[in-house]
Amino acid sequence: MLEGILAYIGIGANLQDPLEQCRQALEELSAVSGIALERVSSFYRTEPVIPESAVREQREELEKQGWFVNAAAEIRTVLPPWKLLKELRRIENSLGRVRTVKGGPRIIDLDILLYGQEIVRDEELTVPHPEMHRRLFVLEPLCEIASYLIHPVFGVSMRGLKDRLDNDKIVERI
Ligand code: ATP
Ligand code: CA
Ligand code: CA
Repeated sequence: MLEGILAYIGIGANLQDPLEQCRQALEELSAVSGIALERVSSFYRTEPVIPESAVREQREELEKQGWFVNAAAEIRTVLPPWKLLKELRRIENSLGRVRTVKGGPRIIDLDILLYGQEIVRDEELTVPHPEMHRRLFVLEPLCEIASYLIHPVFGVSMRGLKDRLDNDKIVERI
């Protein structure tokens, strides 16, 4: 499949068997018609990041959750961004994801990080992913497969974003 757009997917999990769920998600992703899996990063073990928005009671719960496994994938796809999001949700559901508090533990999380150089902002979907430039657990795997990519909003490469990140969270290659 030579036509289509290069898009980047962030993969994460920290419940049950995170590594296995990430592997399964990649397998399901590659099975979708209209998606070709081009490159996959290593898997990383990463310290949970608690969202700014979490209130105190949630914070205590969130601090207790297990470490994540994260990875990034490059796909070539003919699906428009919203259809891609729908497929990601379908895969999350098929792996048994239950939605709870934002930033909470999850069986699998699949986010659209970048969709070519397109900028999307609506209720359902924001691309580039609005938090990607603040997250080492996203930028580290992404830099492994595509450090030269330019962030279409900031005009800075993934390497540049990673280098300027002030991060105290541990992200280590498995
Ligand atoms: P975060 O967005 O901070 O990584 P999260 O992944 O835990 O948080 P979810 O509960 O998985 O958040 O998703 C909430 C909603 O975010 C989804 O239902 C989806 O509509 C929306 N969303 C907006 N932009 C994106 C994107 N780029 N990729 C995936 N989902 C997105
Ligand atoms: Ca996410
Ligand atoms: Ca998500």
